[in-house]
Amino acid sequence: MAHEAVSSSSVTGEHHNATAQPENTTPKANLMGMSRAELEVFFEGLGEKKFRAGQVMKWIHQYFVTDFAEMTNISAKLREKLERISEIKAPEVVHRNYSKDGTRKWVFRVGDGAGSLVETVLIPADDKTGARKTLCISSQVGCALDCSFCSTGKQGFQRDLTSDEIIGQLWVANQSYMEDVEIAERTRSVTNVVMMGMGEPLLNFKPVVKAMSLMLDDFAYGMSKRRVTLSTSGVVPMMDKLSEELDVALAISLHAPNDALRNELVPINKKYPLEQLIAAAQRYIRKDGNESARKHVTIEYVMLDGVNDQAEHSQQLIKLLKDLPSKINLIPFNPFPHAPYGRSSRNRIIAFQKALSDAGFVCTIRQTRGDDIDAACGQLVGQVADRTRRAEQWKKKVAQQGEIIRSQG
Ligand code: SF4
Repeated sequence: MAHEAVSSSSVTGEHHNATAQPENTTPKANLMGMSRAELEVFFEGLGEKKFRAGQVMKWIHQYFVTDFAEMTNISAKLREKLERISEIKAPEVVHRNYSKDGTRKWVFRVGDGAGSLVETVLIPADDKTGARKTLCISSQVGCALDCSFCSTGKQGFQRDLTSDEIIGQLWVANQSYMEDVEIAERTRSVTNVVMMGMGEPLLNFKPVVKAMSLMLDDFAYGMSKRRVTLSTSGVVPMMDKLSEELDVALAISLHAPNDALRNELVPINKKYPLEQLIAAAQRYIRKDGNESARKHVTIEYVMLDGVNDQAEHSQQLIKLLKDLPSKINLIPFNPFPHAPYGRSSRNRIIAFQKALSDAGFVCTIRQTRGDDIDAACGQLVGQVADRTRRAEQWKKKVAQQGEIIRSQG
């Protein structure tokens, strides 16, 4: 990353001598996460034509080249200059795990190292072709919103990811399919992206929008806007802002059909209750054009045993969504250590789905994938270090509850 480029001598204190020239300590610019507009300004600043931006973007995001020397349509002089002042750097992969069912997971170290780890999961379609590959991308280290069923929320918030670190996750996932492939033969494998990993993407707005603009840009990933989805827990004002800046599909982490329950499960609901959230989703869809990605919103609903999975909840949900074109995705809960909830039974989930389908909704049940590598939804936290007060408080609370249960027993 541009902000972490430090010369090796400044880290180790080695190589000092009286005659050495002072080193250029200006951090190198990381071209990985720059939008086309930013790259054009960058090249103009070097006295070059704007079209260099598109050329370099293709090398980075379509041919997965990080070495300027391999960029054969760029003059040797400009390549040398780029080498001196810039770099192309994805976040460091510290762990990767490929499941038998085709799911792939990466753990990245981001920013200043130590405990700043995030995870990215690639889920292939559960069909024979395996052609659809959906990447679930993280936008923050940890999360401030503390949804009560979410393991990431229990870590607390550590920091926002940069656009390099966000788009770098997509770069690494694509690149993992072409390690031994000749440059000219390289193609992109990831077909769909969901901003649904760690963090609330709308609370890291600018870097997320910049990275998503690269996903859509024909000089970078050129993905269809219907295949790029941002998932929010309901940061209402930023939903309106998103609708002004980007045309992508929208998903809402709803999880409860009434305010009292949603206040408990998704605490940001206290600030932006359901009436406001549904109205914002309707506004988002209304900004429609014929080719828009905004024909409907996807409603995510985690199935928590005895909490939000009863017949009354499905009826409330039907009422709540009656004027919002939506597809509903039921997510069997994946319990994490000390989770305060259990997963709804298969029968309960099917009954819930039937009630919604009978009312005319398209309602699917998410397949649990990648269980053998802890990549299933809600398990993203994995071994990621938690160093925040919330993590400590959570552990304390769980220990206290354990004591209460033991003393009651
Ligand atoms: S569900 Fe999403 S918004 Fe809620 S705490 Fe987890 S990561 Fe944050």
